[in-house]
Amino acid sequence: MNIAQTDAPEIAPQSTDPLDHLADKLFHKMGTDGVYARTALYEDVVERLAALISRHREPGTEIMRFPPVMNRGQLEKSGYLKSFPNLLGCVCGLHGTEREIHSAVSRFDAGGDWTTSLSPADLVLSPAACYPVYPIAAARGPLPKGGLRFDVAADCFRAEPSRHLDRLQSFRMREYVCIGSPEDVSGFRERWMLRAQEIAHGLGLSFKVDYASDPFFGRVGQMKAVSQKQQLLKFELLVPLRSEEHPTACMSFNYHRDHFGTTWSMADANGEPAHTGCVAFGIDRLAVAMFHTHGTETAKWPANVRELLGFGCTTTELAG
Ligand code: ATP
Ligand code: ZN
Ligand code: MG
Repeated sequence: MNIAQTDAPEIAPQSTDPLDHLADKLFHKMGTDGVYARTALYEDVVERLAALISRHREPGTEIMRFPPVMNRGQLEKSGYLKSFPNLLGCVCGLHGTEREIHSAVSRFDAGGDWTTSLSPADLVLSPAACYPVYPIAAARGPLPKGGLRFDVAADCFRAEPSRHLDRLQSFRMREYVCIGSPEDVSGFRERWMLRAQEIAHGLGLSFKVDYASDPFFGRVGQMKAVSQKQQLLKFELLVPLRSEEHPTACMSFNYHRDHFGTTWSMADANGEPAHTGCVAFGIDRLAVAMFHTHGTETAKWPANVRELLGFGCTTTELAG
């Protein structure tokens, strides 16, 4: 008998992706696609990128850092369920009586499903960093002339499981946000679209900037996407990580018009509904893009890129 022809199960070859070679150096698996523990090598670059973005903060920008969860009612009111219900993660818990909770646990102990006893909390996992800032700003009353600018960040969640290292379920987003008149916001976005390209250039990334649309859900969503593109409400800085045809968005430049101003009853200095815009940095995507472009040995990265990221000084010095 030819032992090469025994009926050993054939192992289907795992599909490979151009970014897979980075996985062992940057991440540890945690049992779910798109959710990873990060290595020291990776996290050092993440911190240096964050510090670089901080150094470009415009004067008069207020810093806020958000937890990974936010109030469910606020996100509902923001219209998230109309646009991306498929991406949202909601916090659930065992909210019953002691008896009900015991019975859920006993069911699990007996090999059953405890999760059928879960009910939603008033928290969702933040799908983007900027949602919580609008109600906070609105509570402060009328906007000053020139509007307000914020620097926000959060760990974000989107239910888009993928084996690709540039599409995570849990990832970090850093944003600069402008709330003001239409002129305040369009000026802000134009400045940032130029500044962001200088940053990407300095980092040695190849990229293009193109108009884009959000991944709206469903058939009606496709119409929203067309209209968003026609109105040039969203641009992305795209880096060709796996191909030129399907580049990866590492930053986005978004103009929401008066959506949040109307939702939260915010008026600009002229008494008109406030306009808002944000520039979002996908910090994890930027880090993956850096390793893919320059390799996993940061000591061998180009001298000008190393200098820009402050290699040679510690990240504590960078933050100062
Ligand atoms: P994509 O087009 O890739 O689906 P998006 O248009 O939904 O992303 P935004 O909502 O503009 O992304 O989010 C801002 C930034 O956050 C993106 O430009 C990207 O850098 C980062 N980001 C978004 N989704 C993910 C993800 N699943 N994993 C890692 N980073 C992400
Ligand atoms: Zn935003
Ligand atoms: Mg996009």
